[in-house]
Amino acid sequence: MRIILLSSGEYGSRIINNIATHGFAEHIVGMYEFPDDLPEFLDDVDEYIPKNLPEADLLVSTGLFGDINLVIPEIVKKTGVKSVIIPIHDPKQIPAGLQSEIEVMLKDTTSIFPKPFCSLVASGDPYIDKFSAKFGKPKMEIEGDTIIKNVNVITDAPCGCTNYIAEKIVGMPVEDAELESGNKFHNYPCLASMSTDPIIGDTYMHLAGYKIKEAVKRALGFAVKTAKIDKETCSGGDDCDYLCMEVCPNVKAGDQTIFIDDNEKAEIDPASCGVCEICIKECPNGSIEVIEENLPINKDS
Ligand code: SF4
Ligand code: SF4
Repeated sequence: MRIILLSSGEYGSRIINNIATHGFAEHIVGMYEFPDDLPEFLDDVDEYIPKNLPEADLLVSTGLFGDINLVIPEIVKKTGVKSVIIPIHDPKQIPAGLQSEIEVMLKDTTSIFPKPFCSLVASGDPYIDKFSAKFGKPKMEIEGDTIIKNVNVITDAPCGCTNYIAEKIVGMPVEDAELESGNKFHNYPCLASMSTDPIIGDTYMHLAGYKIKEAVKRALGFAVKTAKIDKETCSGGDDCDYLCMEVCPNVKAGDQTIFIDDNEKAEIDPASCGVCEICIKECPNGSIEVIEENLPINKDS
């Protein structure tokens, strides 16, 4: 697989460095950095298109804001790239209209826009799937029954935070790992935006934090803290149209964090619940609360 990497700013640099250092150096055929002080609107992006571009299969573009993203379809045309990953780490990075314009220009190419990059999972495209097996939604294996003896990172968050957290939780009691992974995540620090995405209703930094905690929970096979629905008082959508599902940021981002059970009642998956408490505030029947107890979970995401 031949990869072209585009980057801009601190966010782009960190991702590129991690990808190059920890997995795909031999696959990278071109790396191009763009200024991070360009105006949002550009009259002509042609002057920014790199010369002598190599042929490639996958293009990954990180940290480009505004119209400079329009170089992507031009680079794809010149390089024969078949698959494109454009992670979104800030709600202002690519306005919806610009994303639609780019998608139309890339109509003969597979293109995805994960929000944030560490939500990337396999999509059925051979190049994106090969990439996402190594970098994307965090996945790890944990050894140790009471104390964590070893952590094997299978899929690192593209910024490298999964490997950082894996090192930090070795030697810790297994019961503490879920909450401590959230604390360590804030020390890294994540460069995803703290501005709320108006569609998802949460920040990309929070979503990234939910993902790393989910990786720890799935590796351990249990969760210690989650929102939980009282099935006795949940109306099963009768008077609320499943408002909890409607407002859950993970559901809006495509996860099945809240789903409908066999009795038509809402249910929360403790593995992916980020305990943001948004659903708790919205449930008209007060049926949701945060609980702290050892809950077995499905190890597969
Ligand atoms: S938990 Fe609350 S919002 Fe969700 S379906 Fe039940 S009653 Fe409705
Ligand atoms: S607390 Fe509720 S809204 Fe927040 S992630 Fe968990 S299920 Fe979704």
